[in-house]
Amino acid sequence: MLAAIRMASTLSTKTVVAAVSSAAPSSAKIRSISPPVDAVLPASATHGALTFELLARCSTTRARASTLTLPHGPVQLPVFMPVATQASLKGLTPAQLEDTSCRLCLNNTYHLGLKPGQATLDAIGGAHALQGWNHNLLTDSGGFQMVSLLQLATITEQGVEFLSPHDGKPMLLTPEHSIDLQNSIASDIAMQLDDVIVTTSPDAARMRAAMERSVRWLDRCITAHKIPDRQNLFCIIQGGLDVDMRRECTQAMIERDTPGIAIGGLSGGEAKADYCRVVAAVTELLPPLKPRYVMGIGYPEDLVVSVALGADMFDCVWPTRTARFGNAVTRHGMLNIKHQRYAEDYGPLEEGCGCQCCRLDPETGLPYVTRAFVHHTAAKETAGAHLLTMHNVWYQLALMRGIRESIIADTFPAFARQFFADLYPEGPAAFPDWAVDALASVGLDLTTTS
Ligand SMILES: [Zn+2]
Repeated sequence: MLAAIRMASTLSTKTVVAAVSSAAPSSAKIRSISPPVDAVLPASATHGALTFELLARCSTTRARASTLTLPHGPVQLPVFMPVATQASLKGLTPAQLEDTSCRLCLNNTYHLGLKPGQATLDAIGGAHALQGWNHNLLTDSGGFQMVSLLQLATITEQGVEFLSPHDGKPMLLTPEHSIDLQNSIASDIAMQLDDVIVTTSPDAARMRAAMERSVRWLDRCITAHKIPDRQNLFCIIQGGLDVDMRRECTQAMIERDTPGIAIGGLSGGEAKADYCRVVAAVTELLPPLKPRYVMGIGYPEDLVVSVALGADMFDCVWPTRTARFGNAVTRHGMLNIKHQRYAEDYGPLEEGCGCQCCRLDPETGLPYVTRAFVHHTAAKETAGAHLLTMHNVWYQLALMRGIRESIIADTFPAFARQFFADLYPEGPAAFPDWAVDALASVGLDLTTTS
């Protein structure tokens, strides 16, 4: 029930008009920020309810390896965070998710607010208890879900205004409501409510208004946050594809000194080269001892490149969603196991994978689950999708683990070259230009073997 969210608040037309007209003037001119000086490693900083320990930096690119200690334990960065929309990763039990080595996953505030609702979350003591998950949780603000799911959502200075899908009444999600709900969820990382518009929007004035409003909404979130000693509020940098606007927003967000920093509004259909340009421009300005989260990123190539550009944390529904279409993610690309060619293939989903499906039975030497079995079940049983979900989440986390180990060993460039060589056996000529260019911009030449 929407009423249970406690975000319900009817808006009169007069209020909306007043709210819009009270928008603050454009922000002050950007000050120049020096790139962070190299610290002696390891170096750590405690802020809010987290400790960030920077362990290693790639000597070629901007890739970093670190440990982020949250209220529910340490998380090894860089990390991919699976998305458990309704406090459950579709197809996996908490124990199976734990087995993938996941120690930080996402929940969606909007969905939890709808069901089971805030009263239930308060009664049970938060989302960890609700889903039997003793590791870390990150929650989004709920705003993006509303804007993307509810076509009639509109943004005012007060918040995200929308018509209830329940009874059609006008409702409002404010920064204060979002934080109140995330406080009840008691996630380890809470996200600010931000004003998100699609990066490819040609409306520069609207983009600036959204960026500046996101900064003002962060201030309201900080004021509303009741449990900063056990929940970390992350800011979200906006500004579309305009690098100067992104830099200006980065400056404003850094000044607000939240425990972690996110780059938002990307992965919305923009060209990959534009995406990389924005991420590189922002990470260049960020303080070294805070985690950096790029929202909505999950394709393996994007992860490798984004880590090289200096980002630490990522999330995406793609690996779990594509599992439900019968797809296995592997280092050689995606395989659609529904294809007839797998009907009598008794190998594992991916050779060498350590997931519960692909592991070899020590007695028979065969994988616990064969491609033939997944093929057999994928089209008509949910079991096939569950098995693929397990494998795909494992793949993503193992990829990040490999990246991290290579950064610590200072062999990340070789790791990245091997990653692209596995994905594109035709050779460097087949590598996507955007990836080659982005990696070259941080000193990594993908086309050499040295
Ligand atoms: Zn596997």
